[in-house]
Amino acid sequence: MHINKVVIIGSGPAAYTAAIYAARANLTPIVYEGFFSGVAGGQLMTTTEVENFPGFPQGIFGPDLMINFKAQAERFGTVVVPEDVVSVDFSKTPFKITAKKEIYAHTVIIATGATANRLYVPGTNDEEFWQKGVTACAVCDGAAPIFRNKDLYVFGGGDTAVEEAIFLTKFASKVFLVHRRDELRASKIMSEKALSHPKIEVVWNSVLVSVEGDNVVKSVTLENTITKEKTTREAGGVFFAIGHTPNTKFLDGQVDLLSNGYIKTVAGSSKTNIPGVFAAGDVQDHIYRQAITAAGSGCMAALDAERWLSEQGIH
Ligand code: NAP
Repeated sequence: MHINKVVIIGSGPAAYTAAIYAARANLTPIVYEGFFSGVAGGQLMTTTEVENFPGFPQGIFGPDLMINFKAQAERFGTVVVPEDVVSVDFSKTPFKITAKKEIYAHTVIIATGATANRLYVPGTNDEEFWQKGVTACAVCDGAAPIFRNKDLYVFGGGDTAVEEAIFLTKFASKVFLVHRRDELRASKIMSEKALSHPKIEVVWNSVLVSVEGDNVVKSVTLENTITKEKTTREAGGVFFAIGHTPNTKFLDGQVDLLSNGYIKTVAGSSKTNIPGVFAAGDVQDHIYRQAITAAGSGCMAALDAERWLSEQGIH
């Protein structure tokens, strides 16, 4: 039976950075790209210009950045398998990874990311205004020309919603923060910033009913959860900030998770509760969730895996 030294599950910045490091350490990593966020390459595949990834002073398109990540990993001998991993067996070593067929590995790096939650109402679906005025990442998409000097609507009441609403004030004529309750979940300091911001208006006790437009988003229809009254308001963009779901379903409970569903790692490392299984990127990070922090943790996972292999005498 052939046993791979390192199998990496995922294809975002964490996965490919882990692959670059593992490949350069002659560990011949296998990357299962997967389609966890709906597309191989992770969340950057669904963004436009990335302006905050160091090394690209003019910015770079998210998909182009991911093509570069992948090419760099392949250049050093990474084998990329364009399949989803459907299950794993971490109960004994070598670990078993099942995609279209089964393979075995001494170490596994889980870097399957997280998927931004969306609201599915008329107008927000893939073939409608999704990624054409409706998005789940203000920081990624908010600076696009279509959102300039428009009334923008952010949905959610947590820190992300508040942060994104504040970010969007740079471009919008006004930002409406729509929350389904009468109290924000966001921290007090963040809530106060939003509530006192001259360009932000909170719409309490309201939910999205539909998004309307022609080629671009023109309006949103909201429903007041108490009065049930529906109102249609002019809008140039819709931003969901209603949390993320880490892509851990295929693990089937075999790796310890935090209470919020993210993989639990030993602080300051990529180690999970299973020796030889490491986690990197957004699947284990509910705080920073940036491409650059994901890449950094992918590097940590490759170094942790390399050290673990050498501790086991596997060369
Ligand atoms: P979150 O805290 O889970 O908040 C999600 C928000 O979306 C909640 O207000 C929730 O409403 C709302 N929501 C969920 N499902 C909804 C639905 N179907 N329809 C309408 N609204 C819905 O998520 P988050 O804001 O992304 O934050 C995640 C974590 O990252 C938190 O621990 C947060 O503190 C942290 N974070 C920190 C910072 C910072 O410190 N600068 C920035 C961003 C994130 P309810 O309140 O009614 O449940």
